[in-house]
Order: sequence, then structure tokens, then C-alpha cells
Amino acid sequence: MLTTTGVADNNLIQRCLPSPSRRALRPYPVIECFQEIPCNPCSTSCPFHAILPMDSIHDIPVLDFDKCTGCGACARVCPGLAIFIVDESRGDGTGSVSLPYEFCPLPQKGEIVFTMDRAGCVIGEGTVVRVSPGKTSGTPLVTLNVPIEQVHDVRFFCSKERADRFVLLNTAETISDKIILSAIDDDSDTAVPAIVEDDNNAGNEESPPVSKNIDNEKNERERDDNGNDTDEDEAIICRCEGITRREIRELIAEGYTTVDEIKRISRSGMGPCQARTCGPLIADEIARMTGQSRDSIQPSMHRPPVVAQPIAFFTGGDDE
Ligand code: SF4
Ligand code: SF4
Repeated sequence: MLTTTGVADNNLIQRCLPSPSRRALRPYPVIECFQEIPCNPCSTSCPFHAILPMDSIHDIPVLDFDKCTGCGACARVCPGLAIFIVDESRGDGTGSVSLPYEFCPLPQKGEIVFTMDRAGCVIGEGTVVRVSPGKTSGTPLVTLNVPIEQVHDVRFFCSKERADRFVLLNTAETISDKIILSAIDDDSDTAVPAIVEDDNNAGNEESPPVSKNIDNEKNERERDDNGNDTDEDEAIICRCEGITRREIRELIAEGYTTVDEIKRISRSGMGPCQARTCGPLIADEIARMTGQSRDSIQPSMHRPPVVAQPIAFFTGGDDE
């Protein structure tokens, strides 16, 4: 499942967990890093040497839970946002998940948010109990109080105020319909349904091809009262190359309507993450602006090597 959807399944997650007695003792990290990639900040940053030294930078991190205090330092430095600090030790039927959060604004302590699973589906509600921006560097950590049975499912959240802007995946076993409907009821004058129906394909596999015409009126950029771009327009879509949502939208409006085209003209997806973050976001934007179904938007082309290799790998042993 991981290699086809990018979403880790329960079997993989179970392999990341400590013994039941350690889980009940104090917080611990769940390191959801399953592939051999050239990366090691978690290992080098642990102040208690609980993440074992790696022989190769491609090694998968190995954790000594007895040494780990649950301090969260590793979660702050992981560029893949792959580490979550879970606390099951409270004994009151709730648990907490501290997750790295790279977006602005940070949530407020006490805020009730929609919790989401690894696939981006809403699975319930949680309370923000701690917001820890970090003293000097590193990714802010947001700690959510959630039902104990969800500590291994909750991996992201969205503010209730912004829920109407999220496109939720239409997968089974979510309770998003119920939750989103209650959100809409809260503000029925302005809220837009969070679940965007795929009108082009719903219940009709033989739907005619959708038009790629871009409705520029519908997609006109949001502006504030002074006519300036909103924060949302200036949100960074490709973090490796620093490309904003506004730039992506302008390219789509110019007629670049595939992820590959946008990659070639803007360099989005050519940085270290190789489109893992920006690729799906750009595809979302294309689908939204062109009226195509999200499923019909192809990801960008990937060619080997998929991990960094020493020059000697290509030259047969000669580094020169
Ligand atoms: S939570 Fe803290 S002690 Fe545990 S592995 Fe991460 S950095 Fe080390
Ligand atoms: S820092 Fe994150 S992505 Fe890098 S090896 Fe550690 S867990 Fe994996």
C-alpha cells in the first residue's frame, strides 16, 4: 500500500511501536520512515542517542525506546515530517499526538480542530493542548488531545474555520460527512461544503470528457479589501523551490494544465522532495481550475535513480 498510495498501513505502523509496557510509561515517537532515503537528522539530533547511529545515510532509523524520553527533538528536525510523538500514558481514556506543523497561522491552545488520518480524511475532533513553536529552529510541534483509540490514526488536523476549503478524499470509513455538515450548519450563510463532489464522474463511468476550459471568473484570485493577494495565494506550494500558489495558478491560467508542464516551466517538483509535497497540491489546483476530476490528473514523470547515489556508482568505482 505504501508504494502505491504513499499511505502506510496498519501493519507497518505496528512495527514502529514499542512494547505495551513502554507505551503505558511515557510518550514515545512513532517514526514513520519506511524507505531507504539519504537522510539522517533524526539520528544525529537525538540528545539521548536513542536513535541509533546509522552506518549509511540511507539506513532506516532504529530507535531504542528505553533511552528515549519522548522529548520530541527528532520530530522537529525530520524534513519528511515523518515523526510523531504519541502519549498513551495518561490513563484517562485520552491520549495525545504531537505532530510537526509547517503552516501558518499556528492553531491556538484550546482550539477544537478536525483530526485527519494519513490519507487526509477527517476522522474526528481533537483539542489543541500545546503549541510549541521551537525556541530557535525546527518545525513547530502541535499537540492534540484525542481519544486513546485514535492516537495511531490521527496524523494531521484542520481548523474548523478553514474546513470548507479542504477537499476531502472520498474514501470509505470516514465520518467526515457528519462532521462537515455540522460545520456548515455553524455558518450556513457562508460555508461551502468541504466535500467537493466529483460531478463529472459521480455514478457515471461513461461521462463525456470534461472541458479543460478555465473559468477565469470562478478562479479569479482572492484578494483582501485593499486588493492585495490573500495569504492563501502566497502560500508556498513547492517548498523546495519556493513557488507560491499564486504562481501555480497563473501558470494554469496561461494554459499549462499538467503537472509535468508546470514542473518544467517552474521547477516545482525538481527539488529534494521530488514532488512528494507539491505534486498532489498542483494536481489539486489543476483539477479545481480546469474542472477535471482529480483522479484524471496524472502525476509528474519520475525517472531513476530515485535516491542519491555516489558518482562512483555511475563510473564503476572511479570518483573522478
Ligand atoms: S523523542 Fe527525543 S529522546 Fe526520543 S528519539 Fe526523539 S529526540 Fe531522542
Ligand atoms: S529525519 Fe525523518 S526522513 Fe530523515 S531518516 Fe529520520 S525519520 Fe526518516
